[in-house]
Amino acid sequence: MVILKRKEEIRIMREAGRIVAEVLDMMREKIRPGITTGELNTLAETWIRKRGAIPSFLGYPPGSRHPFPAAICASVNEELVHGIPGSRVLEEGDIITVDVGTLYQGYNGDSAWTYPVGKISEEAQKLLEATEGALWAGISQCKVGNRLGDISASIQEHAESRGYYLTREYTGHGIGRHMHEDPQVLNYGQHGRGIPLRRGMTLCLEPMVLIGTEHTRVLADHWTVVSANGKLTAHFELAIAITEGEPELLTRL
Ligand code: MG
Ligand code: MG
Repeated sequence: MVILKRKEEIRIMREAGRIVAEVLDMMREKIRPGITTGELNTLAETWIRKRGAIPSFLGYPPGSRHPFPAAICASVNEELVHGIPGSRVLEEGDIITVDVGTLYQGYNGDSAWTYPVGKISEEAQKLLEATEGALWAGISQCKVGNRLGDISASIQEHAESRGYYLTREYTGHGIGRHMHEDPQVLNYGQHGRGIPLRRGMTLCLEPMVLIGTEHTRVLADHWTVVSANGKLTAHFELAIAITEGEPELLTRL
């Protein structure tokens, strides 16, 4: 069931999203060769708590035998999503995706961005541009009158027309009181299909892009998802609200 949000709820979600955006802004400044993913996690968690929010990834999902052990996901190079921050030292030429979730006054914010570490290869740069472009292609479809499939198809077209692959195993999602709500926002689909977009829908769009394969596997830590072929991956995510006009970007400053 898709839960439409009232204006007041969207106002709170904008606050939750602002904290996420602040953390990602800080990450952009701090990411450089020599810093560890664990240090990034500490910086992020400290800021989230200082702003009166809770890092929603920590301990997720509740009751799990292997709850996520950190405030951010830090996924380096072939790691697509759900990387666990720790002692890994970032090196010149790496790319790192930081995914951040906050719970603030009962509502969630969720956004991810892939950053270059120092100077990166042309292959990596093109991957980042294509993945961010796929996100914006999806967002351009986020308006009343369109359907969910228009978002999915636009993401897919943008990435695949540039020769990339999108995972079928992980998707975007609705967001609100729960971090993951209906509907699933697939990264592949057909125009004109799926539910109509309505004012008050709040969605996370998150293309996850691979080179040469759509397949992934999960490492023995129970969380880290890597490309099956070990090649680079990228992931960009924003939370948006459907309005009468242009979509509102909830996780941007
Ligand atoms: Mg998400
Ligand atoms: Mg996320």
